[in-house]
Amino acid sequence: MKILKIQTLRGPNYWSIRRHKVIVMRLDLEDLAPKPTSLIPGFYQGLVEALPSLVDHYCSPGCRGGFLSRVQEGTYMGHVVEHVALELQELAGMIVGFGRTRETSTPGTYQVAFEYVDEQAGRYAARAAVRLCRSIVDTGRYPVSELEQDIQDLKDLAAKASLGPSTETLIKEAEARDIPWFHSSARSMIQLGTGIYQKRVQATLTDRSSILGVELACDKEGTKKTLRDAGVPVPRGTLIHYLDELQEAIEEVGGYPIVIKPLDGNHGRGITIDIHSWEEAEEAYDAATTASKTRSVIVERYYKGRDHRVLVVNGKLIAVAERVPAHAIGNGKSTIQELIEETNRDPNRGDGHDNVLTRIQVDRMSMQILERKGYDLDTVLKDGEICYLRYTANLSTGGIAIDRTDEIHPENLWMAERIAKLIGLDICGIDVVTEDISQPLRENDGVIVEVNAAPGFRMHVCPSQGLPRNVAAPVMEMLFPSGTPSRIPILAVTGTNGKTTTTRLLAHIYKQTGKTIGYTTTDGTYIGDFIVEKGDNTGPQSAELILKDPTVEVAVLETARGGILRSGLAFDRCDVGVVLNVSADHLGIGDIDTIEQMATLKGVLAESVDPKGYAILNAEDPLVVKMAKRVKSQIAYFSMDPENEILQNHVRNGGLAAVYENGYLSIIKGDWTLRIEQAVNVPLTMAGLAPFMIANALAAALAAYSNGVPIEQIRSGLATFEASVAQTPGRMNLFNMGTYHALVDYAHNAASYEALGGFVRNWPGETIGVIGGPGDRRDEDLFNLGKLSADIFNQIIVKEDNDTRGRPRGNAAHFICAGIVQANGPAAYQTILNETEAIETALNQAPSGSLVVILPESVSRAIGLIEKRKPLEEPRIPL
Ligand code: ATP
Ligand code: ATP
Ligand code: MG
Ligand code: MG
Repeated sequence: MKILKIQTLRGPNYWSIRRHKVIVMRLDLEDLAPKPTSLIPGFYQGLVEALPSLVDHYCSPGCRGGFLSRVQEGTYMGHVVEHVALELQELAGMIVGFGRTRETSTPGTYQVAFEYVDEQAGRYAARAAVRLCRSIVDTGRYPVSELEQDIQDLKDLAAKASLGPSTETLIKEAEARDIPWFHSSARSMIQLGTGIYQKRVQATLTDRSSILGVELACDKEGTKKTLRDAGVPVPRGTLIHYLDELQEAIEEVGGYPIVIKPLDGNHGRGITIDIHSWEEAEEAYDAATTASKTRSVIVERYYKGRDHRVLVVNGKLIAVAERVPAHAIGNGKSTIQELIEETNRDPNRGDGHDNVLTRIQVDRMSMQILERKGYDLDTVLKDGEICYLRYTANLSTGGIAIDRTDEIHPENLWMAERIAKLIGLDICGIDVVTEDISQPLRENDGVIVEVNAAPGFRMHVCPSQGLPRNVAAPVMEMLFPSGTPSRIPILAVTGTNGKTTTTRLLAHIYKQTGKTIGYTTTDGTYIGDFIVEKGDNTGPQSAELILKDPTVEVAVLETARGGILRSGLAFDRCDVGVVLNVSADHLGIGDIDTIEQMATLKGVLAESVDPKGYAILNAEDPLVVKMAKRVKSQIAYFSMDPENEILQNHVRNGGLAAVYENGYLSIIKGDWTLRIEQAVNVPLTMAGLAPFMIANALAAALAAYSNGVPIEQIRSGLATFEASVAQTPGRMNLFNMGTYHALVDYAHNAASYEALGGFVRNWPGETIGVIGGPGDRRDEDLFNLGKLSADIFNQIIVKEDNDTRGRPRGNAAHFICAGIVQANGPAAYQTILNETEAIETALNQAPSGSLVVILPESVSRAIGLIEKRKPLEEPRIPL
């Protein structure tokens, strides 16, 4: 078996509209191709032994053990690899379900598609599955140690990619509210929402968190002053920078017991509490200065009490947790060491922030606490005796949390909400030390120890005791209040021909609304009137650039086959999905071999339209019409023929459509015909002479209309969009040469030749085609282009590209000429292999009133030759 390619899909895709995360592996079975699993001795047995849990895969039989029975009866190895890749991920704790395997047109080569949770882990699972199957084929087994290593590696990859517990909680809530999210390019920032509606979070900081509030919270002394001045109880304390100030500071706070901590610390680092002697104080001073960047140390009175974290979001108290420091509880038999080990065996405890709780680590501070009590790790605690191992109750140092949200006293609640405002934080964690949070602080000498920006959510979401609190919900509600949008409209365009033209026209129409449009095309990515980036930008990366842009109000995305195939769509759904046509081009690439498969691939866009949105379908293209059965959204059809049966049926049932009728581009809605504009007034249609451009204009107008753009604005968009070199280079660029016209177009396949022919045949005068075909097409394709051209033009000059793409010079021209001769009414033709010479000849010989159509290798070179001859300002189409 050989892995030929592994691809990672991240959006709606060829394999599934609903499952966005899919790995596709192209796998050559080599020697195993002709062997179903039943003919490989010991394979079934070895597989069951290695992965007994495969019994839970139902597969096609639809029952427990279903997949294994297929292995026993005999299935192909690609199918087994798929199930193993899924099972390995399951064993590593990632929940996946979807898989498909298909043979490609290359016998023995399969596409194995399966779901993943984490990209890296998914790709790893693909390789590990092949390794496992190979080993069982060769040796009858897969060593347990290797399997364990695989599972550990998968777990590690997943952990490495995990975003941290607070961020995960926020993302889960965003998904529950149907708010899309992206990773930001830099830092661990997350973007929620698209375009202008986007908001950002980083852990529990939001783009609304005030920098002043955050800085004040990080300055413990400043925070205390602010609160004290506002009448909030805070520890009596003072700030020192030198050891010789310590003695005086202790007296100033009223003597022992005291607390010493760094001014700018967090996570309990460098802090010592409940200090009773000068010796301890000196040691604590050292620890605090080491942990402080500014070597500034706070000396505070020690307040006895329990440690609470109060969370305030957007001015409202959301949750209260009591935090208990890491500790061991005696049983009269075990040593402290054994008790810690026992506690750490809890599967809820992980390393750092990767689980609900964190494992207890014995460090300098723990040893110091034990020493103070005259204990060490070998001490056996009495039954029920609690021995703390930390001063502070951070979850990240092994503490636990108990929910107390319902117990807080109303006066404390009022105080907490006021504190969040005093410090100026939208998400605010307040540390309160008090014996009893259900009593007002001032009644039992409680204090606010500090205020935290970016407080962790873990203790509220997963408390060890008490009710878990959904603290992410109020954050989302703050960022996206109910009823406000989080998504900009997405209008996407696909098809074999006309995508760029239609995308540009649609963007131009939408611009009439005054909104900022972000759009992507084969020529580049644009925002408003400016180009962001040149290049063939029809894939998900360019689409993502638009969706991530904070200035964009509407996205119009040319969505080509290549990107959908390579990584799926960039969006989970769109509001309008236009499918222009499906014809034979790009077949044989990426295992898309038939035109039906191509239709399925382009159909991904139609199927990804929001149920409230519109799929805009070409009623004259049977492969596009077929997509209607699978879309979940509303449908609107367009057709050049107002009598088209599909369209007629659709409007009879009250459906929306666009047609070309009596010289008008019109929208039909139920019984009403809304005329938008006469084709002669729509420059793109070449005064109505280019039928395929009318079709593109109908599609764009319908797309805009279905998304709420008013008819007047559609009309002014159509009237002001031209197929000029500036707006659509290489696409129906018409030049007035005085006595004759020249047209430059980039038609590059049979369907676009036909389309162009529709225009050329409408030309009232003589027509001359300067044509050629890329050398890498098949002989019969070149022959056909010749034959087609003879049906279109009165005269033909056959030329070749500079780049013959592997053919001897003159060979491509030979096949084109053969086609011309075989046509029904053969045209006059000559061969001039050099493209420049061919163009010059055609232009020199053009009779009055004629049209010279140039289908060049290089659009810019051809346009250069024409512009040297100084064409007149306005192309005027003779009617
Ligand atoms: P974190 O990052 O967890 O908030 P930190 O390093 O910022 O911790 P503080 O919040 O100032 O440090 O203190 C940590 C814990 O130490 C407090 O939650 C409290 O339990 C205890 N503590 C701090 N100061 C006092 C004090 N003056 N009296 C009693 N306990 C205190
Ligand atoms: P690409 O796949 O190269 O990005 P595209 O789908 O974006 O192509 P356009 O660039 O808009 O298509 O048009 C390319 C050529 O296809 C045009 O110059 C024209 O000859 C032809 N064409 C445009 N619209 C249609 C149509 N609706 N039907 C058939 N041919 C068309
Ligand atoms: Mg704190
Ligand atoms: Mg294009």
